[in-house]
Amino acid sequence: MLATLLRAVERALAALSPCPVCGERGAGPCGTCAVCEVALRSAVLALPAPSGDTLWLGPHAGAWRRLVHALKYRDARRLAPFLAELLALRARGWGWRPQLVVHLPTTAGRRAARGYDQAEGLARALAPKLGAVHVAALRRVRETPALARQGRAARSATLEGAFRSRYLGGRAVLLVDDVLTTGATLDAARAALLAAGAREVRAAVVARTALAHEAVAAGEDREGV
Ligand SMILES: [Zn+2]
Repeated sequence: MLATLLRAVERALAALSPCPVCGERGAGPCGTCAVCEVALRSAVLALPAPSGDTLWLGPHAGAWRRLVHALKYRDARRLAPFLAELLALRARGWGWRPQLVVHLPTTAGRRAARGYDQAEGLARALAPKLGAVHVAALRRVRETPALARQGRAARSATLEGAFRSRYLGGRAVLLVDDVLTTGATLDAARAALLAAGAREVRAAVVARTALAHEAVAAGEDREGV
């Protein structure tokens, strides 16, 4: 009874805040307005099946960038289940099923400042949709300096050994993060998972920066945040 009432209040409050994608209509229960929800789902369904071992929903620009920004900086945790649903739609296109879903953890400082870890929210919502289990297997063993002004080689050096994972003997793992820029952070996390015994590691992110050097030059890089 109380839970039902709380959900109704939550829905009413959500409808009062603007949709982070269009900014015109009220955000619905999924975190965007109904029009944007349909458009985003259609856009994802229209994509070809993912090739390679990393998938993303769209470019880190426009609607996808606004969604990531809302998820990360405007406390829009309610977006996580919707984005996880879209990631699950894409991931099923692989015809591959992970046993574990592991998020790429943000730094302790950022988590404390924000009160949550956006990648963890995505991974937790995504795991059951894929019949997998979410495990917080990765941890950062040291804080890394800001990566925004570093090229890929410098980032790789900075990030080497930055993550450690719990033992994952023989498991198929899906690694989850919000944004992919050069891939250096993802590579470092993937290496830690494989070193911990994961049989196979694939990765799913919400948005991918198409031209990493341009994003870095524009100071837009948020990788590793
Ligand atoms: Zn909208």
